Amino acid sequence: MSEPQVIVVGAGPVGQSAALLLARWGVQVLVLDRRPGRGSGGSRSICQQRDVLDIWAAAGAGKVAEEGLAWTTARTYHRDRELFSWTFEREGPLPPCVNISQARTEQILDEVIAAQPLVEVRWGHEVTGLDQDDSGVTVHCGQRLLRAPYVLVCAGARAQAVRASLGVSFTGHSFEDQFLICDIKADLPGWENERRFYFDPVWNPGRQVLIHPCPGARTGSTGRSRRTSSPRKLIFPEKSGKS
Ligand SMILES: Cc1cc2nc3c(=O)[nH]c(=O)nc-3n(C[C@H](O)[C@H](O)[C@H](O)COP(=O)(O)OP(=O)(O)OC[C@H]3O[C@@H](n4cnc5c(N)ncnc54)[C@H](O)[C@@H]3O)c2cc1C
Repeated sequence: MSEPQVIVVGAGPVGQSAALLLARWGVQVLVLDRRPGRGSGGSRSICQQRDVLDIWAAAGAGKVAEEGLAWTTARTYHRDRELFSWTFEREGPLPPCVNISQARTEQILDEVIAAQPLVEVRWGHEVTGLDQDDSGVTVHCGQRLLRAPYVLVCAGARAQAVRASLGVSFTGHSFEDQFLICDIKADLPGWENERRFYFDPVWNPGRQVLIHPCPGARTGSTGRSRRTSSPRKLIFPEKSGKS
């Protein structure tokens, strides 16, 4: 690759999407990431809304919407009693939102990037400094220096050092609760297209449990991402009343 027009720091979903959107405008992009390569990573950010699916479709990654599980109903419970529910209306070619693991989303974006000659990804490149002058930016990766007219930092929430070098803060607050996230396979007939939120469920008292369906149904089993604020008690809902 000749000197890139834009260096993107970070090959997470934001950096991947930015690189693909720039390439769509004919911009030559170099993506740098400090990790040695793509990790497996679990479901993490599983719920993708229509506007994001729309952007990915425009960037050539329509597979995310196609492979994602389009859930249609959200139900909220207190103990065993349903409080309310709402249902998405499908308007237009894309579903309102889909569930798909972040690992699979990144893989799909990687595939599109691999087929895009304007984007190059270099793993094992930790950006340690950025110097800006009138004609562009010098990117320091330890002793290695790279140069581009523009740099886009998409280095995620933990990139304090890069942010600090730009004088950018990341204010906010953290929940004191601990959340446990599990990706499980279970037979839960009737739940395939529903997201369920339980407050104080009888099978996990005093806690909150959010259960999202995920793609990957096989022989009647549906992969599900399930999250709870209780790392101490984890009882499967289908065993309610038996344990
Ligand atoms: C267990 C878990 C569960 C989660 N659940 C959810 C969820 O339910 N919903 C939700 O919206 N989000 C969730 N998230 C967060 C979600 O994963 C992030 O929001 C998402 O990854 C952000 O994408 P990103 O591209 O901005 O950053 P990242 O995915 O963090 O990517 C940033 C990239 O920049 C690279 N990088 C950082 N610093 C440098 C540097 N100095 N030089 C070079 N490269 C660098 C990193 O290696 C990384 O690859 C979860 C995360 C975890 C860990």
